Amino acid sequence: MSAVILAIESSCDETSAAVISNGKVLNNIIATQAIHQKYGGVVPELASREHQRNIVAVVHEALKKSGLKKHDLDAIAFTRGPGLMGSLLVGVSFAKGLAIGLRKPLIEVNHMLSHFIEDPKPAFPFLCLTVSGGHTQIILVRDYLEMEVIGETQDDAVGEAFDKAAKIMGLPYPGGPLVDSYAQKGNPLAYKFSDTDMPGLDFSFSGIKTQFLYFIRDEKKKDENFVENNLNDICASIQHKLVQMLLKRLEQASLKTGIKEIAIAGGVSANSGLRNSLQALALKNAWNVYIPKLEYCTDNAAMIAMAAHYKYVKKEFVELDVAPLARMPI
Ligand code: ADP
Ligand code: MG
Repeated sequence: MSAVILAIESSCDETSAAVISNGKVLNNIIATQAIHQKYGGVVPELASREHQRNIVAVVHEALKKSGLKKHDLDAIAFTRGPGLMGSLLVGVSFAKGLAIGLRKPLIEVNHMLSHFIEDPKPAFPFLCLTVSGGHTQIILVRDYLEMEVIGETQDDAVGEAFDKAAKIMGLPYPGGPLVDSYAQKGNPLAYKFSDTDMPGLDFSFSGIKTQFLYFIRDEKKKDENFVENNLNDICASIQHKLVQMLLKRLEQASLKTGIKEIAIAGGVSANSGLRNSLQALALKNAWNVYIPKLEYCTDNAAMIAMAAHYKYVKKEFVELDVAPLARMPI
């Protein structure tokens, strides 16, 4: 059975399209929206308009790069949620239009579920630490469609904490990757920050954001160039603490469940501190770790395409009246 699927991802601020043929991703085109930089965060209405501007070119490029024509497609897949409603609507509507025009079936994909469907795949059951601008969760994955959130943030996501720390230091949005690059040249133990105690495997990042805000404010009272003069050490220290907060719960989750197959996913999984510390923990605890390629860390249609492939095989299609969901439970 031929299974050539075009997948569209538009849940937040990346317009992406990918083509997958019999389980093999042929390409993964991503248009990142630079417009949000000057506002210090994603502006939903602008994101939706940028998706409208980009989507035709992105889909066209994905098809062209795969050497296929629209009529070679067997199905059209799209991110149904979770995400920004205006952004999702563009991808969902475009996918429906294509499906109607080509008379091909539609496949909906849950963005969160798709995050950890990459080769090589962990063996079931595995734990996935999903860390992005909108999520911080530990998910126990028993099977592709059977999973349970066993720990999650009760307030902000870790990506938000990275971005907020960067903003407090006067760095542009999104600050996470910048904090990471300065951190690589700094001393992670130069400044101390504390964790917030949470029951079970849950996270909280609002406390450390406030701690960081007051820390910078107080230090700047003593030395107005404090941030400029110590940027590498400050970034290394805050990153070190955020990574520790994540890995402490992940280690507890592994102990509690006895599971040693460990994956990470989402934008923050690009963080070099997290990647390195996870490798070190893998050695210490005899874990098998699965760290995504950098291009698969942020939002991309390749992961939507991989998830869609499994649904295609099972003939899990949706009707044309399917609506996007801003919140979509896994
Ligand atoms: P969402 O779509 O939920 O906002 P993404 O998966 O697109 O999340 O990831 C974006 C988030 O990842 C942003 O908060 C960004 O700062 C963060 N991020 C990306 N790269 C890094 C990195 N190297 N270090 C820390 N955070 C990062
Ligand atoms: Mg994003």
